Amino acid sequence: MTPFPSVFISHGSPMMIVEDSPARRFLAGLGRDLGRPTAILIASGHWLTEGLGIVSADRPEMIYDIHGFPQALYDIAYSAPGAPEIAGRAQALLGGAGIGATLTESWGLDHGAWVPLHLMYPDADIPVAQISIEPDLGAARQLEIGAALAPLRDDGVLILGSGNTTHNLRELRRDRPIHDPPDWVKVFSDWVFDALTGGRIDDLVRYRDIAPEGARNHPTEEHFLPLFTAIGAAGPGATAERIHASYSYSALSMDAYKFQ
Ligand code: ZN
Repeated sequence: MTPFPSVFISHGSPMMIVEDSPARRFLAGLGRDLGRPTAILIASGHWLTEGLGIVSADRPEMIYDIHGFPQALYDIAYSAPGAPEIAGRAQALLGGAGIGATLTESWGLDHGAWVPLHLMYPDADIPVAQISIEPDLGAARQLEIGAALAPLRDDGVLILGSGNTTHNLRELRRDRPIHDPPDWVKVFSDWVFDALTGGRIDDLVRYRDIAPEGARNHPTEEHFLPLFTAIGAAGPGATAERIHASYSYSALSMDAYKFQ
């Protein structure tokens, strides 16, 4: 079996479920473009823990970690089967790399998972496990986690990082749902593209120190860290392909990358 690519997507606002946008159209076609994985292991920037957690439930519950949105969003039920066997294998692979992880049923699929998965694989018939992000341990640690998980790709598992290429919520323009990024957003998004397609992973790990406007675009790191899960899972020498580029609410770069 050819290893399944690892992927990073920007999940944007949950309004993507009900609002047309270039990113929505992209995600709605992405499942078809990638093909059908045997299972999905998704790292969402909305499940933040001290010590890694992996959802091992037979039927992960919906986490409606959104507030003040239209009822239509709370009516979404992404009732995919869980992937306890994949969760267990992930735990074992991480353990082999000296990284502890806890299996849990106390989390399910948060909106960083169910918003994109509802668009990508609307039939909800592919087993899903979610893995947390440890925001305090930074990009290098997230690369190691992704690298440990890489063998799952050999069995057709999609390792999916779900965050945002840029993510400064204080500077969102809610009156501008599509396009129109300011320079400080565009310069960072372009820098990420250049670094990824140039294979400069060490630079990416140091983005807060060396990238233009890195810290302004990520006042906190949790939405950028899932990118490193996907990069790590692709293994050394993998190539990055930008499979989507757009902007949302002015300050959100919605870029997506495929690694193989
Ligand atoms: Zn988010």
